[in-house]
Amino acid sequence: TGMERANFLKKIMEQDLASGKHSQIVTRFPPEPNGYLHIGHAKSICVNFGLGEAFGGVTYMRFDDTNPDKEEQEYIDAIQQDVRWLGFDWKVPERLTHASDYFGRFHEMAVLLIKRGKAYVDSLTAEEMREYRGSLTQPGRDSPYRERSVEENLALFDKMTKGEVPDGEMVLRLKIDMSSPNINMRDPPAYRIKRNSEHPRTGTQWKVYPMYDYAHPLTDALESITHSLCTLEFEDHRPLYDWLMDHLADQLPARPRQIEFSRLNLQYCVVSKRKLLQLVNEGHVAGWDDPRMPTIRGLRRRGVPPEAMRLFVERTGVSKADNNIDYSVLEDCARECLDSSAPRAMAVLEPLRVVVTSWPEGQVDILDAPMHPKLPELGRRAIPFTRTLLIERTDFEEAPPPGYQRLTPGGEVRLRYGYVIRCDEVIKDADGNVVELRCTHEPDTRQGAGRKVKGIIHWLSEPHSSRAKVNLYDRLFKVPDPGSGGREFLSDVNPESLSVLEGCAVESYVADAEPGTRLQFERAGYFCVDAASAPGALSLNRVVTLRDTWAL
Ligand code: ATP
Ligand code: MG
Ligand code: MG
Repeated sequence: TGMERANFLKKIMEQDLASGKHSQIVTRFPPEPNGYLHIGHAKSICVNFGLGEAFGGVTYMRFDDTNPDKEEQEYIDAIQQDVRWLGFDWKVPERLTHASDYFGRFHEMAVLLIKRGKAYVDSLTAEEMREYRGSLTQPGRDSPYRERSVEENLALFDKMTKGEVPDGEMVLRLKIDMSSPNINMRDPPAYRIKRNSEHPRTGTQWKVYPMYDYAHPLTDALESITHSLCTLEFEDHRPLYDWLMDHLADQLPARPRQIEFSRLNLQYCVVSKRKLLQLVNEGHVAGWDDPRMPTIRGLRRRGVPPEAMRLFVERTGVSKADNNIDYSVLEDCARECLDSSAPRAMAVLEPLRVVVTSWPEGQVDILDAPMHPKLPELGRRAIPFTRTLLIERTDFEEAPPPGYQRLTPGGEVRLRYGYVIRCDEVIKDADGNVVELRCTHEPDTRQGAGRKVKGIIHWLSEPHSSRAKVNLYDRLFKVPDPGSGGREFLSDVNPESLSVLEGCAVESYVADAEPGTRLQFERAGYFCVDAASAPGALSLNRVVTLRDTWAL
């Protein structure tokens, strides 16, 4: 499950162990619990936990819960389940941590920074502060409150902490450099007031909350993280990270190093909690676990195995280069993992009845097939052959194009594992739709014996098969880069991303499979029994089509 492929992060870690800089690698996966995890997070999980494992080190599962207004226990619980489902574990309870575990320490260090003349309470309004901050082309200006005395700052910060100052009236800022070319260094805020917020863990105990940019580096250091891995948009924040390490060095047990890698982007998808939330809230999908969603829950419900997600991360690699991955890479990984593990079954998605007139009414021949062509340990399955069969509508053509090898009027085809049949008669309804075929079988072709014919199709005995609803999924967006060119990303949603087939027929053993079971329907693709499937209301999701159907 580790990161087998050499990557630049692995090299850095190897060097740091070889040089003696570190004796053990310590990483963390630090989500903010403000939504469900998506495939981009899966990458971060595989990278952080995978590298921790590869070096026999330690990885923390840490919740970055510094913004009480957006965070919920529901997400905290779901994130833990998702990490475990992907196959990773923090192993001991002490490695499941929260930024809020350290709120007391953060506050002490803020007081210390004030005493050291490195932080001050600012009373500018948010709008004024923005204006004083300048821009990329314009240096910032010092706030008129920047030179408040240490005593005054301590007194004001104390008032903020006690809830005596209304929200937004003051912030604590780090005193760095208003003329820095890096805007992140222009006296960034460290604490803001939220008097009326309720935090999922600390309740109403705190009236001030640390900013992410202040809390995150300190949490890393307090946990003795050796390599703090994050995505490239935090590159500009690294000087601030290092500034905190410098100015609080005597308070911190370790000095982590921040290293950035590029974000995973998946074409025909959006990979952002905010946008995914919008898709859910505005009803474009049924929920966070809708099988079209690139969330870990959605992909799981769709039927993508965890090994396929790990393979996907492995294959797409870690680097600083732009990372815009074709959706088919994920599909290929799913196919590979499913091909080697999923039991086989036959399913007729759009059934057409075939009556074998040469077969006696009531007689059943039990044919035999492997559950998996390469895994004999999965056993075998019994396939009943009777007078009334179902085949796929698309496997019959009244007016076949040249080279067509499936069933045609007067033509022959082999039924997989069964007999060769010939179509003698086509029955139509009043509107001219084909409703039934009358065929005869050749007795000496049982179970692959006898004559070879070119076309082989799948089929089921109608009375022995079970009914199912099958959900077929297409891409959630119509374009590779939703929202590009200034469009609203929601306008790129593919309105045809779901088609539902009712009245499909499946081998009867499938009806007993537990939700979450993954199967290959021969010639049709890989499918997964839906989470909401129930006895008598069987429902399956198509994970992905087969790369190659049989040569037909
Ligand atoms: P989003 O914008 O979707 O909310 P985020 O980065 O704000 O994502 P966090 O909860 O802060 O979400 O992310 C936890 C970890 O996952 C961070 O270390 C972050 O860098 C990483 N991560 C998030 N999205 C991606 C992605 N697309 N590719 C790689 N890593 C990611
Ligand atoms: Mg974040
Ligand atoms: Mg975010």
